[in-house]
Amino acid sequence: MNTKTVTSLTNNTVKAVRALHMRKEREDSGLFLAEGLKIVIEAIDCGHAPKIVMYGPDAADHPMLKKAVAACLKAGGEVIEVNREILEKVSRRDNPQAVVAVFKQVFTPLSAIVPESAPCWVAMQAVRDPGNLGTVIRTADAAGCGGVILVGDCVDPYSVEGVRATMGSIFAVKIAKATIPEFLAWRETWPGSVVGTLLTATVDHKSADYVKPSLILMGNEQQGLPPELAAACDVNVKIPMRGRADSLNLSVATGIMIYTVTG
Ligand code: SAM
Repeated sequence: MNTKTVTSLTNNTVKAVRALHMRKEREDSGLFLAEGLKIVIEAIDCGHAPKIVMYGPDAADHPMLKKAVAACLKAGGEVIEVNREILEKVSRRDNPQAVVAVFKQVFTPLSAIVPESAPCWVAMQAVRDPGNLGTVIRTADAAGCGGVILVGDCVDPYSVEGVRATMGSIFAVKIAKATIPEFLAWRETWPGSVVGTLLTATVDHKSADYVKPSLILMGNEQQGLPPELAAACDVNVKIPMRGRADSLNLSVATGIMIYTVTG
């Protein structure tokens, strides 16, 4: 394979990849880090060629690595073999994946979203936990949703922790972002139901009439949906809380809603 071997943590590529743990570096470069050969191959299959492929000795003889290397080199990227210590530093884990790769971030403009291309879409307002967002992206992909729209001040969907939680689904669904005013204006053109989720709603999530394509709107982990967003929905629904817990975890509630709406 046409690759070079790097053993120093001061190597420029290693430093640039490690810096992608920082949001500012991701924003400035427009790049992000994905870990694991399976996920890298899924990304390639979804049309995303890696900019950098970094692999350790455990992956050197893996048959799928050739595919990842070929896609990277064909796209003008860089491939380096590194030792385990570098992989540990890059992933900040004792048990790192044997392959990590760097990809370009993709955000779909709201105007490019075709609502009818999927039965269901998910909008997340001010989601703060990268694990919650990654889990929602994975669930949206699994249920055949078109994508996830980030409304207001949300966590970065391309954080290392968030991408890990997507298990590769970050490459499979559309990701868009919007300010609250942009979302409210765009929502006016939505052809199906816009469904808010509220603990104070009086409509049970199973009894509402969902017109497809449906757009499910989820609130922030602490405050829930702000009134101006709840008021902009066609219907607000509640998943029954039968025990002592007063709310569900955001990603669990989103999963229940996605499968309720899509059937
Ligand atoms: N204290 C917050 C509140 O009053 O809304 C709790 C927010 S909850 C942890 C985060 C989000 O998950 C909510 O904004 C809503 O979108 C969704 N959610 C959680 N439990 C829900 C339920 N039982 N019914 C509908 N949505 C729920």
